[in-house]
Amino acid sequence: MAGNRTFTMIKPEAVAAGNAGKIIDAIIEGGFKIVALKLTQLTPERAGKFYEVHKERPFYQELVDYMSSGPIYAAVLEKDNAVADFRALIGATDPAEAAEGTIRKRFAKSKAENAVHGSDSDENATIESNFHFSADEIVG
Ligand code: UDP
Ligand code: MG
Repeated sequence: MAGNRTFTMIKPEAVAAGNAGKIIDAIIEGGFKIVALKLTQLTPERAGKFYEVHKERPFYQELVDYMSSGPIYAAVLEKDNAVADFRALIGATDPAEAAEGTIRKRFAKSKAENAVHGSDSDENATIESNFHFSADEIVG
C-alpha cells in the first residue's frame, strides 16, 4: 500500500565497521517491520543508476565509488507513514546536523559516509525497492 513502505540500505562503511546488526536493531526498535532484506554489493554501474538523480551533483562520482566499494544490506521496511518516519529515525544527511539518538548521529562517519540510505518519497520508495527486490522477495 502506498504510504506504508520505505527502502533503506546500510551503506558499505557501516557494514565494514560491524554496525549492521545495531542499525537493524534500531530500525526494529523504531517500529519498522522488515519485509525484505539482503546482503549484496552494487557494481559501479548499478550504483550509478541508483543515484542517477544526483548525476549533475559534484559528489556523484565519489558517491558511486563509495556505494560500490563493499557489501551493503538492502531492505524494504513497513510502518505507517514509513518514508517520513524513517527519515526522522535516520536524521539529517550530515551527521553533524543529525539529531541526538538518530542512526546517522550514532553511526555515520561523515556527510558522504553516512551509514544509511532512506527513500525521500513514496514514489521513490517503490522505485528503489523494485531496483533491489523482485516481488517474491518481499513478504506480506
Ligand atoms: N552526499 C555527499 N555529499 C553531499 C550530499 C550528499 O556525499 O554534499 C551523499 C550522501 O551519502 C547522501 C547521498 O549522497 O546520503 C545522497 O544525497 P541526498 O541529498 O539524497 O541525501 P539523503 O537523502 O541520503 O539524506
Ligand atoms: Mg536522498
